[in-house]
Amino acid sequence: MKLVTRSQWGARAYLTPNGATLYSRSRRGVKVHYLGTAYTDRAHDKCAAYVRQIQAQHMDGNGWSDIGYSFVVCTHGYVFEGRGLKRRNSANGNTALNEQDYAVMALVGSSGLTKPTGPQLDGVRDAIDHCRETGPAGNWLGGHRDGYATACPGAALYAWVQKGAPRPTTKEEDDMPISDADAEKIATKVLTIDGVIDNPNTATAKANPYISAETALRNIEIVARRTETRVAALAATNTELVKTVATLAAGLGDLDPEAIVADLTAAIEGIDIRLDATT
Ligand SMILES: [Zn+2]
Ligand SMILES: [Zn+2]
Repeated sequence: MKLVTRSQWGARAYLTPNGATLYSRSRRGVKVHYLGTAYTDRAHDKCAAYVRQIQAQHMDGNGWSDIGYSFVVCTHGYVFEGRGLKRRNSANGNTALNEQDYAVMALVGSSGLTKPTGPQLDGVRDAIDHCRETGPAGNWLGGHRDGYATACPGAALYAWVQKGAPRPTTKEEDDMPISDADAEKIATKVLTIDGVIDNPNTATAKANPYISAETALRNIEIVARRTETRVAALAATNTELVKTVATLAAGLGDLDPEAIVADLTAAIEGIDIRLDATT
């Protein structure tokens, strides 16, 4: 679960004594909520500010002692800790309902973004499992509208909750063709991300254990070019050697120059060519 703790999202301190009220018994289960107002999806670095805004609205507008929800799940699948597992939520409609179930809210609007994203469904599922395993909470699962007059959590989320909140399959995504432009973007991103590859160069690995794929490719290219130059130089030396030996052997009378050249050529070819290929 991608948990964002209260300190991580910059939560205000809750008011006491009400904000500190603990559940008096185990929870029956989890109620799922949506935002219920217009919502526009945004980059994840704006999500914490949005959760702070909800908290401010609940505290300053509604006069509550903290954000009402137990957890809030953004469209990117991050689970923001609201009142958490121990402190009683104030989002289910009345004290008895708050006492009965956790309140997990997904940032889904009644207009604008009205359908949860795949990562978001995964995040809500994570939060439900977290409540059940650690809360503790029983297996009951429903929407805010179960037992309370409200449209929350909206048609799309409620249909998913009624199916038992299954994790989304990735089938649809796999079936979507990636455009050339997207493929290029992905490749560029992968190539330039720092630290995705273990640095294979023992001389620099200690100071710089991870390098980008782009750096790795560049290093391979440099080594390949050096190797090519060195092999060419070696080949030239060999040719010169063979010529020299042939000239020498020609002046040796009864020795067979061809046999000497053949022996030497074989010997040269047998030498392990070792290249210093460090960059
Ligand atoms: Zn609700
Ligand atoms: Zn987010």
